[in-house]
Amino acid sequence: MSEGKRVGVVGAGMGGIAAAALMQRAGFDVVLYDQAPSFMRLGAGIQFGPNVMKILRRLDLEAPLEAVSCLPDYWTSRNWDDGAILANIPLNAERERYKAAYITIHRGDLQQTMLNAVDPARVQFGKQLTRFEDNGKTVRLDFADGTSDTVDILVAADGINSRIREQIFGLDAAVYTGWVAHRAIIPGAAAKAVGADVNAKWWSADRHIVCYYLDRNEDEFYLVTGEPDEWTSASGQLPSTREALRKSFEGYHPMVQAYIDATTEVTKWPLKTRNPLPHWHQGRVVLLGDACHPMKPHMAQGAAMAVEDAAVLTRCLAELGTQDLERSFRTYFACRKDRATKVQRISNANTWLRQPEDPFWCYGDDVYQMDLRAVEATV
Ligand SMILES: Cc1cc2nc3c(=O)[nH]c(=O)nc-3n(C[C@H](O)[C@H](O)[C@H](O)COP(=O)(O)OP(=O)(O)OC[C@H]3O[C@@H](n4cnc5c(N)ncnc54)[C@H](O)[C@@H]3O)c2cc1C
Repeated sequence: MSEGKRVGVVGAGMGGIAAAALMQRAGFDVVLYDQAPSFMRLGAGIQFGPNVMKILRRLDLEAPLEAVSCLPDYWTSRNWDDGAILANIPLNAERERYKAAYITIHRGDLQQTMLNAVDPARVQFGKQLTRFEDNGKTVRLDFADGTSDTVDILVAADGINSRIREQIFGLDAAVYTGWVAHRAIIPGAAAKAVGADVNAKWWSADRHIVCYYLDRNEDEFYLVTGEPDEWTSASGQLPSTREALRKSFEGYHPMVQAYIDATTEVTKWPLKTRNPLPHWHQGRVVLLGDACHPMKPHMAQGAAMAVEDAAVLTRCLAELGTQDLERSFRTYFACRKDRATKVQRISNANTWLRQPEDPFWCYGDDVYQMDLRAVEATV
Protein backbone atom coordinates (compact mmCIF):
# COMPACT_ATOMS: atom_id res chain seq x y z
CA MET A 1 0.00 0.00 0.00
CA SER A 2 1.53 3.32 -1.03
CA GLU A 3 2.07 6.19 1.37
CA GLY A 4 -0.92 8.39 2.14
CA LYS A 5 -3.44 5.63 1.52
CA ARG A 6 -4.11 4.42 5.06
CA VAL A 7 -7.47 5.77 6.18
CA GLY A 8 -9.15 5.39 9.56
CA VAL A 9 -12.91 5.92 9.50
CA VAL A 10 -14.33 6.41 12.99
CA GLY A 11 -18.06 5.65 13.21
CA ALA A 12 -19.92 2.82 11.51
CA GLY A 13 -23.18 4.67 10.92
CA MET A 14 -24.45 5.08 7.38
CA GLY A 15 -21.87 7.77 6.56
CA GLY A 16 -18.88 5.87 7.92
CA ILE A 17 -19.88 2.58 6.31
CA ALA A 18 -20.35 4.29 2.95
CA ALA A 19 -16.98 6.05 3.27
CA ALA A 20 -15.16 2.84 4.20
CA ALA A 21 -16.75 0.81 1.40
CA LEU A 22 -16.25 3.47 -1.29
CA MET A 23 -12.66 4.20 -0.24
CA GLN A 24 -11.77 0.51 -0.17
CA ARG A 25 -13.06 0.21 -3.73
CA ALA A 26 -11.02 3.26 -4.70
CA GLY A 27 -7.86 1.49 -3.51
CA PHE A 28 -7.39 2.96 -0.04
CA ASP A 29 -6.34 0.83 2.92
CA VAL A 30 -9.29 1.54 5.21
CA VAL A 31 -10.11 0.47 8.75
CA LEU A 32 -13.62 1.19 10.05
CA TYR A 33 -13.89 1.59 13.85
CA ASP A 34 -16.98 1.87 16.03
CA GLN A 35 -17.44 2.15 19.77
CA ALA A 36 -20.37 -0.29 19.83
CA PRO A 37 -19.36 -3.76 21.06
CA SER A 38 -20.94 -5.27 17.93
CA PHE A 39 -23.38 -4.39 15.19
CA MET A 40 -26.54 -2.91 16.81
CA ARG A 41 -29.93 -3.30 15.07
CA LEU A 42 -31.84 -0.11 15.85
CA GLY A 43 -35.63 -0.66 15.80
CA ALA A 44 -36.53 2.08 13.39
CA GLY A 45 -37.16 2.84 9.74
CA ILE A 46 -35.38 5.01 7.24
CA GLN A 47 -36.08 6.43 3.80
CA PHE A 48 -33.37 6.61 1.12
CA GLY A 49 -33.98 8.66 -2.00
CA PRO A 50 -32.63 8.17 -5.53
CA ASN A 51 -29.77 10.57 -4.74
CA VAL A 52 -28.37 7.95 -2.33
CA MET A 53 -29.35 4.89 -4.34
CA LYS A 54 -27.19 6.16 -7.22
CA ILE A 55 -24.22 6.07 -4.84
CA LEU A 56 -25.07 2.66 -3.38
CA ARG A 57 -25.27 1.34 -6.97
CA ARG A 58 -21.48 1.81 -7.08
CA LEU A 59 -21.23 -0.64 -4.18
CA ASP A 60 -23.53 -3.19 -5.87
CA LEU A 61 -26.08 -2.58 -3.13
CA GLU A 62 -28.95 -1.34 -5.27
CA ALA A 63 -30.41 -4.76 -6.15
CA PRO A 64 -30.08 -6.32 -2.67
CA LEU A 65 -31.68 -3.27 -1.06
CA GLU A 66 -34.54 -3.08 -3.54
CA ALA A 67 -35.18 -6.80 -3.02
CA VAL A 68 -36.02 -6.31 0.66
CA SER A 69 -37.30 -2.73 0.91
CA CYS A 70 -40.64 -1.09 0.15
CA LEU A 71 -40.73 1.07 -3.00
CA PRO A 72 -43.50 3.67 -2.57
CA ASP A 73 -44.88 5.19 -5.77
CA TYR A 74 -45.89 8.37 -3.98
CA TRP A 75 -45.28 10.47 -0.89
CA THR A 76 -48.66 11.61 0.44
CA SER A 77 -49.14 14.58 2.74
CA ARG A 78 -52.44 14.52 4.64
CA ASN A 79 -54.32 16.92 6.82
CA TRP A 80 -54.34 15.71 10.42
CA ASP A 81 -58.08 15.44 11.18
CA ASP A 82 -60.04 14.89 7.96
CA GLY A 83 -57.22 13.17 6.06
CA ALA A 84 -57.54 15.55 3.09
CA ILE A 85 -54.63 15.15 0.69
CA LEU A 86 -52.37 18.22 0.78
CA ALA A 87 -49.80 16.86 -1.68
CA ASN A 88 -49.18 13.66 -3.60
CA ILE A 89 -45.56 13.68 -4.76
CA PRO A 90 -44.41 11.05 -7.27
CA LEU A 91 -41.45 8.97 -6.07
CA ASN A 92 -41.07 5.61 -7.84
CA ALA A 93 -43.95 6.71 -10.08
CA GLU A 94 -41.24 8.89 -11.67
CA ARG A 95 -38.34 6.50 -11.25
CA GLU A 96 -37.16 7.01 -14.84
CA ARG A 97 -36.82 10.73 -14.19
CA TYR A 98 -34.89 10.22 -10.95
CA LYS A 99 -32.79 7.41 -12.46
CA ALA A 100 -33.01 5.29 -9.29
CA ALA A 101 -35.51 4.01 -6.76
CA TYR A 102 -36.83 5.61 -3.57
CA ILE A 103 -36.84 3.04 -0.77
CA THR A 104 -38.22 2.75 2.76
CA ILE A 105 -36.55 0.09 4.89
CA HIS A 106 -35.72 -1.14 8.37
CA ARG A 107 -32.56 0.64 9.52
CA GLY A 108 -31.04 -2.61 10.72
CA ASP A 109 -31.52 -4.23 7.32
CA LEU A 110 -30.07 -1.20 5.56
CA GLN A 111 -27.06 -0.92 7.83
CA GLN A 112 -26.29 -4.65 7.74
CA THR A 113 -26.58 -4.73 3.94
CA MET A 114 -24.31 -1.71 3.64
CA LEU A 115 -21.82 -3.24 6.07
CA ASN A 116 -21.58 -6.27 3.77
CA ALA A 117 -19.88 -3.95 1.26
CA VAL A 118 -16.94 -3.38 3.66
CA ASP A 119 -14.14 -5.94 3.98
CA PRO A 120 -15.08 -7.63 7.30
CA ALA A 121 -11.40 -8.03 8.19
CA ARG A 122 -11.16 -4.23 8.28
CA VAL A 123 -14.09 -3.54 10.63
CA GLN A 124 -13.32 -3.15 14.34
CA PHE A 125 -16.10 -2.90 16.91
CA GLY A 126 -15.49 -2.04 20.58
CA LYS A 127 -13.14 0.79 19.55
CA GLN A 128 -14.15 4.04 21.19
CA LEU A 129 -11.89 6.84 20.02
CA THR A 130 -10.83 9.03 22.96
CA ARG A 131 -8.38 11.34 21.17
CA PHE A 132 -6.24 11.72 18.09
CA GLU A 133 -2.89 13.34 17.44
CA ASP A 134 -2.07 14.71 14.00
CA ASN A 135 1.71 15.26 13.62
CA GLY A 136 1.38 16.56 10.05
CA LYS A 137 2.49 13.28 8.49
CA THR A 138 0.28 10.71 10.21
CA VAL A 139 -2.57 10.62 12.70
CA ARG A 140 -2.41 8.56 15.86
CA LEU A 141 -5.75 7.26 17.16
CA ASP A 142 -6.16 6.38 20.84
CA PHE A 143 -9.01 4.15 21.93
CA ALA A 144 -10.69 3.68 25.30
CA ASP A 145 -9.48 0.06 25.49
CA GLY A 146 -5.89 1.31 25.66
CA THR A 147 -5.00 0.41 22.07
CA SER A 148 -3.89 2.84 19.40
CA ASP A 149 -3.46 2.92 15.65
CA THR A 150 -1.75 5.14 13.10
CA VAL A 151 -3.28 6.26 9.81
CA ASP A 152 -2.52 8.81 7.11
CA ILE A 153 -6.03 10.26 7.03
CA LEU A 154 -8.72 10.27 9.73
CA VAL A 155 -12.37 10.46 8.67
CA ALA A 156 -14.73 11.58 11.45
CA ALA A 157 -18.05 9.83 10.89
CA ASP A 158 -18.79 9.68 14.61
CA GLY A 159 -22.18 11.37 14.58
CA ILE A 160 -23.79 14.33 16.29
CA ASN A 161 -21.69 14.06 19.47
CA SER A 162 -18.48 13.64 17.49
CA ARG A 163 -15.44 13.37 19.72
CA ILE A 164 -13.30 14.36 16.77
CA ARG A 165 -15.32 17.53 16.07
CA GLU A 166 -15.03 18.34 19.76
CA GLN A 167 -11.23 18.00 19.69
CA ILE A 168 -11.00 20.29 16.65
CA PHE A 169 -13.65 22.90 17.45
CA GLY A 170 -13.95 22.61 21.26
CA LEU A 171 -16.68 21.36 23.52
CA ASP A 172 -20.04 22.63 22.29
CA ALA A 173 -23.19 20.69 23.11
CA ALA A 174 -25.67 19.99 20.30
CA VAL A 175 -28.70 22.29 20.39
CA TYR A 176 -31.97 20.70 21.51
CA THR A 177 -34.62 21.95 19.06
CA GLY A 178 -37.53 21.67 21.49
CA TRP A 179 -38.85 18.71 19.51
CA VAL A 180 -38.88 14.97 20.08
CA ALA A 181 -39.60 12.04 17.78
CA HIS A 182 -41.62 9.05 18.92
CA ARG A 183 -40.81 5.85 17.05
CA ALA A 184 -42.76 2.58 16.89
CA ILE A 185 -43.15 -0.39 14.55
CA ILE A 186 -46.57 -2.06 14.18
CA PRO A 187 -47.63 -5.14 12.19
CA GLY A 188 -48.22 -4.34 8.53
CA ALA A 189 -51.55 -6.18 8.75
CA ALA A 190 -52.84 -3.65 11.30
CA ALA A 191 -52.00 -0.79 8.93
CA LYS A 192 -53.49 -2.59 5.92
CA ALA A 193 -56.71 -3.28 7.80
CA VAL A 194 -57.42 0.46 7.92
CA GLY A 195 -56.23 1.18 4.35
CA ALA A 196 -52.88 2.77 5.17
CA ASP A 197 -51.00 4.80 2.58
CA VAL A 198 -47.70 3.24 1.55
CA ASN A 199 -45.78 6.37 2.61
CA ALA A 200 -47.58 9.31 4.23
CA LYS A 201 -47.12 12.26 6.58
CA TRP A 202 -50.05 13.59 8.57
CA TRP A 203 -49.65 17.26 9.47
CA SER A 204 -51.26 19.57 12.02
CA ALA A 205 -50.07 23.03 13.04
CA ASP A 206 -47.31 22.03 15.45
CA ARG A 207 -46.71 18.30 14.97
CA HIS A 208 -46.80 15.43 12.52
CA ILE A 209 -46.65 11.67 12.17
CA VAL A 210 -44.89 9.92 9.28
CA CYS A 211 -45.96 6.35 8.43
CA TYR A 212 -44.52 3.84 5.97
CA TYR A 213 -43.88 0.14 5.34
CA LEU A 214 -40.41 -1.19 6.09
CA ASP A 215 -40.18 -4.16 3.76
CA ARG A 216 -41.12 -5.56 0.40
CA ASN A 217 -43.81 -7.83 1.91
CA GLU A 218 -45.29 -4.98 3.94
CA ASP A 219 -44.98 -7.06 7.12
CA GLU A 220 -43.90 -4.08 9.23
CA PHE A 221 -45.25 -0.53 9.31
CA TYR A 222 -43.27 2.28 10.91
CA LEU A 223 -44.48 5.36 12.78
CA VAL A 224 -42.18 8.32 13.47
CA THR A 225 -43.41 11.63 14.82
CA GLY A 226 -42.21 15.17 15.31
CA GLU A 227 -43.66 16.99 18.35
CA PRO A 228 -42.76 19.84 20.67
CA ASP A 229 -41.74 18.56 24.09
CA GLU A 230 -39.23 19.04 26.86
CA TRP A 231 -36.03 17.01 27.08
CA THR A 232 -33.93 16.99 30.21
CA SER A 233 -32.33 13.53 30.02
CA ALA A 234 -28.67 13.09 29.07
CA SER A 235 -29.70 9.93 27.20
CA GLY A 236 -30.11 9.85 23.41
CA GLN A 237 -33.44 7.99 23.71
CA LEU A 238 -35.99 6.98 26.34
CA PRO A 239 -38.76 4.41 26.51
CA SER A 240 -42.21 5.93 25.97
CA THR A 241 -45.77 4.62 25.82
CA ARG A 242 -48.80 4.19 23.59
CA GLU A 243 -50.65 6.52 25.98
CA ALA A 244 -48.12 9.30 25.41
CA LEU A 245 -48.64 8.93 21.65
CA ARG A 246 -52.44 8.94 22.10
CA LYS A 247 -52.27 12.12 24.14
CA SER A 248 -49.96 13.83 21.69
CA PHE A 249 -52.10 12.93 18.67
CA GLU A 250 -55.52 13.41 20.21
CA GLY A 251 -58.08 14.45 17.61
CA TYR A 252 -56.00 13.07 14.71
CA HIS A 253 -57.84 11.03 12.04
CA PRO A 254 -59.18 7.56 13.01
CA MET A 255 -56.58 5.92 10.75
CA VAL A 256 -53.79 7.46 12.85
CA GLN A 257 -55.60 6.37 16.03
CA ALA A 258 -55.70 2.81 14.66
CA TYR A 259 -51.93 2.89 14.06
CA ILE A 260 -51.34 4.12 17.62
CA ASP A 261 -53.68 1.44 19.02
CA ALA A 262 -51.49 -1.19 17.36
CA THR A 263 -48.24 -0.03 19.00
CA THR A 264 -46.54 -2.09 21.68
CA GLU A 265 -43.00 -0.77 22.08
CA VAL A 266 -42.65 3.01 21.77
CA THR A 267 -39.44 5.03 22.13
CA LYS A 268 -38.80 8.77 22.28
CA TRP A 269 -35.79 10.64 20.87
CA PRO A 270 -34.63 14.25 21.28
CA LEU A 271 -34.16 16.12 17.99
CA LYS A 272 -30.95 18.12 18.01
CA THR A 273 -29.04 20.25 15.57
CA ARG A 274 -25.91 22.41 15.33
CA ASN A 275 -25.01 25.61 13.57
CA PRO A 276 -23.04 25.13 10.32
CA LEU A 277 -19.27 24.82 10.86
CA PRO A 278 -16.79 27.17 9.11
CA HIS A 279 -14.81 24.22 7.72
CA TRP A 280 -14.96 20.43 7.83
CA HIS A 281 -11.30 19.55 8.12
CA GLN A 282 -8.12 20.31 9.96
CA GLY A 283 -4.74 18.95 8.95
CA ARG A 284 -5.16 15.27 8.07
CA VAL A 285 -8.59 14.97 9.69
CA VAL A 286 -11.90 15.44 7.87
CA LEU A 287 -15.53 15.33 9.02
CA LEU A 288 -18.69 14.01 7.38
CA GLY A 289 -22.39 13.46 8.10
CA ASP A 290 -23.88 14.29 11.49
CA ALA A 291 -20.38 14.97 12.83
CA CYS A 292 -20.43 18.24 10.87
CA HIS A 293 -24.06 18.98 9.88
CA PRO A 294 -26.69 17.26 12.05
CA MET A 295 -30.29 18.31 11.45
CA LYS A 296 -33.88 17.65 12.44
CA PRO A 297 -34.98 14.63 10.39
CA HIS A 298 -37.90 16.26 8.56
CA MET A 299 -36.56 15.83 5.03
CA ALA A 300 -35.48 12.22 5.72
CA GLN A 301 -32.10 13.22 4.29
CA GLY A 302 -29.65 13.25 7.24
CA ALA A 303 -28.12 9.87 6.50
CA ALA A 304 -28.46 10.60 2.79
CA MET A 305 -26.26 13.68 3.22
CA ALA A 306 -23.74 11.58 5.16
CA VAL A 307 -23.56 9.08 2.28
CA GLU A 308 -23.29 11.89 -0.28
CA ASP A 309 -20.45 13.38 1.79
CA ALA A 310 -18.73 9.98 1.80
CA ALA A 311 -19.01 9.69 -1.97
CA VAL A 312 -17.72 13.21 -2.68
CA LEU A 313 -14.89 12.85 -0.16
CA THR A 314 -13.84 9.57 -1.78
CA ARG A 315 -13.92 11.21 -5.20
CA CYS A 316 -11.80 14.13 -3.96
CA LEU A 317 -9.16 11.84 -2.44
CA ALA A 318 -9.11 9.42 -5.37
CA GLU A 319 -9.36 11.91 -8.24
CA LEU A 320 -7.51 14.94 -6.85
CA GLY A 321 -5.05 12.89 -4.82
CA THR A 322 -3.66 12.92 -1.30
CA GLN A 323 -0.43 14.80 -2.00
CA ASP A 324 -2.10 18.15 -1.43
CA LEU A 325 -4.58 16.96 1.17
CA GLU A 326 -5.55 20.47 2.21
CA ARG A 327 -6.66 21.24 -1.36
CA SER A 328 -8.60 17.98 -1.69
CA PHE A 329 -10.37 18.61 1.62
CA ARG A 330 -11.15 22.21 0.68
CA THR A 331 -12.62 21.00 -2.60
CA TYR A 332 -14.72 18.44 -0.73
CA PHE A 333 -16.08 21.18 1.55
CA ALA A 334 -16.74 23.50 -1.39
CA CYS A 335 -18.64 20.72 -3.18
CA ARG A 336 -20.78 19.89 -0.17
CA LYS A 337 -21.36 22.89 2.05
CA ASP A 338 -24.17 24.64 0.12
CA ARG A 339 -26.21 21.48 -0.46
CA ALA A 340 -25.78 20.15 3.09
CA THR A 341 -26.63 23.56 4.57
CA LYS A 342 -29.71 23.91 2.35
CA VAL A 343 -30.97 20.47 3.34
CA GLN A 344 -30.23 21.23 7.00
CA ARG A 345 -32.20 24.51 6.79
CA ILE A 346 -35.27 23.02 5.08
CA SER A 347 -35.18 19.98 7.34
CA ASN A 348 -35.07 22.12 10.45
CA ALA A 349 -37.94 24.28 9.13
CA ASN A 350 -40.10 21.16 8.58
CA THR A 351 -41.74 22.39 5.39
CA TRP A 352 -40.59 19.67 2.98
CA LEU A 353 -43.34 18.22 0.74
CA ARG A 354 -46.17 19.60 2.87
CA GLN A 355 -47.54 21.30 -0.23
CA PRO A 356 -47.10 20.22 -3.84
CA GLU A 357 -43.50 20.86 -4.92
CA ASP A 358 -40.91 19.28 -7.20
CA PRO A 359 -38.20 17.56 -5.10
CA PHE A 360 -36.00 16.93 -8.15
CA TRP A 361 -33.16 19.21 -6.98
CA CYS A 362 -32.74 16.87 -4.01
CA TYR A 363 -33.63 13.38 -5.28
CA GLY A 364 -32.47 13.93 -8.87
CA ASP A 365 -28.94 14.86 -7.82
CA ASP A 366 -26.04 12.59 -8.77
CA VAL A 367 -22.77 13.39 -6.98
CA TYR A 368 -20.84 11.59 -9.71
CA GLN A 369 -21.90 14.24 -12.26
CA MET A 370 -20.14 17.00 -10.31
CA ASP A 371 -17.10 18.51 -12.06
CA LEU A 372 -14.52 18.28 -9.25
CA ARG A 373 -11.76 20.01 -11.21
CA ALA A 374 -14.01 23.02 -11.80
CA VAL A 375 -14.75 23.25 -8.07
CA GLU A 376 -11.07 22.69 -7.23
CA ALA A 377 -10.17 25.67 -9.40
CA THR A 378 -12.25 27.89 -7.09
CA VAL A 379 -10.75 26.87 -3.73
C1 LIG B 1 -36.22 10.18 14.13
C2 LIG B 1 -35.21 10.24 13.02
C3 LIG B 1 -35.55 9.82 11.74
C4 LIG B 1 -34.62 9.90 10.69
N1 LIG B 1 -34.97 9.49 9.43
C5 LIG B 1 -34.08 9.57 8.41
C6 LIG B 1 -34.42 9.13 7.08
O1 LIG B 1 -35.52 8.62 6.84
N2 LIG B 1 -33.48 9.27 6.09
C7 LIG B 1 -32.23 9.80 6.33
O2 LIG B 1 -31.41 9.91 5.39
N3 LIG B 1 -31.89 10.22 7.57
C8 LIG B 1 -32.77 10.12 8.61
N4 LIG B 1 -32.42 10.53 9.87
C9 LIG B 1 -31.08 11.13 10.10
C10 LIG B 1 -30.03 10.08 10.25
O3 LIG B 1 -30.38 9.11 11.21
C11 LIG B 1 -28.69 10.69 10.62
O4 LIG B 1 -28.47 11.86 9.90
C12 LIG B 1 -27.60 9.68 10.28
O5 LIG B 1 -27.73 8.54 11.10
C13 LIG B 1 -26.20 10.27 10.41
O6 LIG B 1 -25.28 9.30 10.00
P1 LIG B 1 -23.77 9.38 10.44
O7 LIG B 1 -23.12 8.19 9.80
O8 LIG B 1 -23.23 10.72 10.17
O9 LIG B 1 -23.80 9.24 12.03
P2 LIG B 1 -24.44 8.13 12.97
O10 LIG B 1 -25.46 7.33 12.27
O11 LIG B 1 -24.85 8.83 14.22
O12 LIG B 1 -23.22 7.15 13.30
C14 LIG B 1 -22.18 7.55 14.16
C15 LIG B 1 -21.44 6.29 14.60
O13 LIG B 1 -20.26 6.70 15.29
C16 LIG B 1 -20.08 5.87 16.41
N5 LIG B 1 -19.28 6.66 17.36
C17 LIG B 1 -19.62 7.81 18.00
N6 LIG B 1 -18.61 8.24 18.77
C18 LIG B 1 -17.59 7.36 18.61
C19 LIG B 1 -16.27 7.27 19.15
N7 LIG B 1 -15.78 8.20 19.99
N8 LIG B 1 -15.48 6.23 18.77
C20 LIG B 1 -15.95 5.28 17.91
N9 LIG B 1 -17.20 5.31 17.38
C21 LIG B 1 -18.01 6.34 17.72
C22 LIG B 1 -21.49 5.56 16.89
O14 LIG B 1 -21.53 4.37 17.65
C23 LIG B 1 -22.24 5.43 15.57
O15 LIG B 1 -22.25 4.10 15.09
C24 LIG B 1 -33.33 10.43 10.94
C25 LIG B 1 -32.97 10.81 12.25
C26 LIG B 1 -33.90 10.72 13.29
C27 LIG B 1 -33.48 11.16 14.67
